[in-house]
Amino acid sequence: MTSPLLDVRNLTRDYVSPSLFGSGHSLRALDNLTMTIDAGAIFGIVGESGCGKSTLARLVMALDRPTSGHVLFDGEDLYALPERDLTRKRADFQMVFQDPFGSLDPRQRVGRIVAEPMHVRRPRLTRSQTRERVVDMLESVGLDADHAERYPHEFSGGERQRIAIARALITEPKLVVADEAVSALDLSVQAQVLKLLLDLREKRGVTFLFISHNLAVVDSIADRVGVMYLGRLVETGPANAVFDAPLHPYSKILADAEPGIDKFGRQSRPVHIPTAQSVGIGGCAFRSRCPLAIDRCVQERPELRTILAGRLAACHRAEDMLKTTLASAAP
Ligand code: SF4
Repeated sequence: MTSPLLDVRNLTRDYVSPSLFGSGHSLRALDNLTMTIDAGAIFGIVGESGCGKSTLARLVMALDRPTSGHVLFDGEDLYALPERDLTRKRADFQMVFQDPFGSLDPRQRVGRIVAEPMHVRRPRLTRSQTRERVVDMLESVGLDADHAERYPHEFSGGERQRIAIARALITEPKLVVADEAVSALDLSVQAQVLKLLLDLREKRGVTFLFISHNLAVVDSIADRVGVMYLGRLVETGPANAVFDAPLHPYSKILADAEPGIDKFGRQSRPVHIPTAQSVGIGGCAFRSRCPLAIDRCVQERPELRTILAGRLAACHRAEDMLKTTLASAAP
């Protein structure tokens, strides 16, 4: 059996907000999260704003330090590496952000923006080798060689996101973390960029951790998915299985929400559920919003466990959810 490219183990991140009086308030943004991604896979993370998705992205990118837990990339524990080795390792994982304009320096030409990570990661390349790599990269994301001479403001939102993707891929990383990478784009451009990411996986073997609040977008690109709620994974499995036959009540609420088009022409599945409540002590963190909650849910916190082969859920009633699904599918 081959080892996963990314192996996240028991990752926890607490933040303490400073207080004028007393010791401050502690917030657990990520709670004992464990997951793996195989090389060449697209793993989608979906959940509401504030569920810990971006904290996970920052920890996987080694842009922050966990309170406890480990991130193993290609078998090496990122947080145990000496700084010099971590700098070398960074060429293998890159990030694409939500706002393509904000992530591109408006004063620099596109060629320079795309080439910049190579100056740091591959300093021995000559000028003409760098130029060749930039042109090749621009063409692989559907842009032209002469676009290298232009500035970011001369491009549309979709083209700017292609530039950001070219910049992320120029060092030929093994893993790309895409955090809400298509959320700022309208529907037709979203579809083009998603197709581009699938092509890049196919042709270059890139592995993606694709993070979005939008279930429809994750459903359209991911092989496997993890549903996050208040810092924890509450369900994982193949994307189509999780969305078609969820085993956790929260996944079901997300999946049942009607897909729609928002005022910016972007596809979305609005989440018609109340604002997140505080986790409280003990019990299931979702219980205040759960239509299936029972007494046990108040006392005992459900752990993520295998319900079916390849499918895990953190719910005391996952087997009941499974029975209901099987009954409704029966002829
Ligand atoms: S453990 Fe209980 S409260 Fe939590 S999701 Fe399952 S049924 Fe709902």
